[in-house]
Amino acid sequence: MLLEVSGITTGYGPTIVNRGVSLTLGAGEVATILGPNGAGKSTLLRTIAGLVKPRAGTVRFGGSDATGQPPDVMAKRGVVLVPEGRRIFGDMTVEENLRLGAYARRDSAAVDADVTLMENFFPILATKRRDKGGSLSGGQQQMLAIARGLMARPRVLLLDEPSLGLSPLLVKEIQAIILSIGERFGASVLLVEQNAGLALSVATRGYLMQTGQIVTSGPIEELRDMS
Ligand code: ADP
Ligand code: ADP
Repeated sequence: MLLEVSGITTGYGPTIVNRGVSLTLGAGEVATILGPNGAGKSTLLRTIAGLVKPRAGTVRFGGSDATGQPPDVMAKRGVVLVPEGRRIFGDMTVEENLRLGAYARRDSAAVDADVTLMENFFPILATKRRDKGGSLSGGQQQMLAIARGLMARPRVLLLDEPSLGLSPLLVKEIQAIILSIGERFGASVLLVEQNAGLALSVATRGYLMQTGQIVTSGPIEELRDMS
């Protein structure tokens, strides 16, 4: 397995958030974590990305231990989080935002090529290269956030609520993008989504999280039948 999360426990101060969470993600796979608000899904993604240190458990990536590695190290190794809320840099241009995603890459010709690739892959960003991130619409900002994550050429892309607040048309675009990330970029996707319809339509496997624990997991058809 590309990513193996075992027995992860997290918390903030006295509050325990995740309790003994285990999950796996294979190469080229799209898996989803469903569950109510506050269940601990974001915290788990942040833990995998190295933004939260777990109190117990392990994160293994590519067959070696990656528990508690800082986010820049995780990104260099190939695990990248696209956080909830379109955290792009509003005062920087689209191109500058994209290049930030590639900060750890040395081959500048390949990075140049990827800037163009992203503008083709995300049509909504075409012609916006020199525009400030803050001038983009919500949907454009979300695409930019995903594109910036892909600029790191990750092997695992962690997507936290990419469809939040987007119109149905844009949700369709997000769906198409997630479905082609594996083929176009060779990355696996671990998706946290409130929009169960979207999650069930792109993932092949799913986990249901409630109050910090995985209560159900299996092929997506089984989760679809439950929801
Ligand atoms: P979900 O993504 O499933 O909505 P979260 O992981 O965002 O769940 O949150 C789980 C719980 O942890 C919530 O009660 C939330 O308020 C709390 N929480 C999240 N981040 C922090 C933080 N930085 N400090 C304290 N509590 C937090
Ligand atoms: P997310 O679901 O991605 O964590 P939120 O809007 O819940 O997004 O949180 C935004 C930021 O605030 C995150 O950095 C999160 O860790 C932090 N946060 C969330 N809940 C709490 C909380 N109860 N106390 C302190 N910080 C929190």
